[in-house]
Amino acid sequence: MNTSERYVLLNPGPVTLTDSVRAALARRDMCHREQAFSDLMAEVRRQLLDVYETAVADWTTVLITGSGTAAVESMISSLVQSPNQSLVCANGVYGERMTTMLQRAGKAPIQVRSEWQDDIDFAEVENRLRQQDSIKYVIAVHHETTTGRLNNLDRLAELCVTYDKRMLVDAVSSFGGERIDFENWPLDAVAATANKCLHGVPGIAFVVVRRPCVQDKTCASSLYLDLATNFAAQEGGLPAFTPAIQSMYALHQALCELHDGGGWSSRHDMYRQRTLRVTEGLTGLGIAPLLPSPTARSAVLTAYRLPEALDYETISTPLQKERIIIYAGQKTLEKIIFRIAVMGDLDDHDFEKLFRVLRNVMRN
Ligand SMILES: *Cc1c(COP(=O)(O)O)cnc(C)c1O
Repeated sequence: MNTSERYVLLNPGPVTLTDSVRAALARRDMCHREQAFSDLMAEVRRQLLDVYETAVADWTTVLITGSGTAAVESMISSLVQSPNQSLVCANGVYGERMTTMLQRAGKAPIQVRSEWQDDIDFAEVENRLRQQDSIKYVIAVHHETTTGRLNNLDRLAELCVTYDKRMLVDAVSSFGGERIDFENWPLDAVAATANKCLHGVPGIAFVVVRRPCVQDKTCASSLYLDLATNFAAQEGGLPAFTPAIQSMYALHQALCELHDGGGWSSRHDMYRQRTLRVTEGLTGLGIAPLLPSPTARSAVLTAYRLPEALDYETISTPLQKERIIIYAGQKTLEKIIFRIAVMGDLDDHDFEKLFRVLRNVMRN
């Protein structure tokens, strides 16, 4: 592509595309009722299971046309059946959003909330699990993009095993870039999207789910987002609704590139290196990460404290002039942080340019 048009997206998705993924968008016009589309859909569903080598006999992928939120809402509103049947761990925007979704579906969860800069309140989660028999599902965000915290799902999984609970996970900003332990965590489903760590374009989201969970009739409050309906249709080769066909081309290409590049763990290592570089560079300019403990932070995205006397626009505007897009904090963190994600097709020059602009900002 014309390099003068190239944008460096350091926001948490959508990402800077490879030229080959972008080119895939322009493949031939296609009807979703052609055999060619059924084949493509089956291939993409298989590729998505392949990312974490989940056993095809036990697991399946259900594609949902929409953004990541659609997949998360589909997962929890289809699998959770009643009020107080689930416990949501909320330590950021996305955890709290899942509580809202379940409330709207008339299936209000028990919420264990923490301050956004804090870890999941594991002591309180354990209290609730010990006391409340009605809980079947523990619901959590894997990478809480609000703060860049990688929630400790190993620890949550241990609690779930102890108290015999199943897990539903929002892995929208971690699937393809962080470890997800399909073998040892008591997972029933994981929701994610095409346009974050998988480096596809927006339009397709998906739920990786245990087959038995979608084989019975569900009690989804939505028709469009009903996991079981979508599963049955996709297994039959015909999607229930018109899919985002061009996004499917792009996702197929992006998944081939993930596989050829060594899979999720290679991508994770690449993200780690990039993040290390950005964090070191910014620390050198006097800008510190929000979360002091490096082990609490994801490889995918880091939140940084805005230096005193600098507001977000003072930093983001000169970057934007250079076609580098960063991300503001949300709600109560809006005036306190900015965020830098390292997903997408980025190279050394992009980070050099980032540092050059930031050095200038800090000098003035
Ligand atoms: C991006 C994101 C979502 C979904 O956002 P959409 O804008 O609907 O794609 C959900 N959860 C997390 C953790 C996210 O980072």
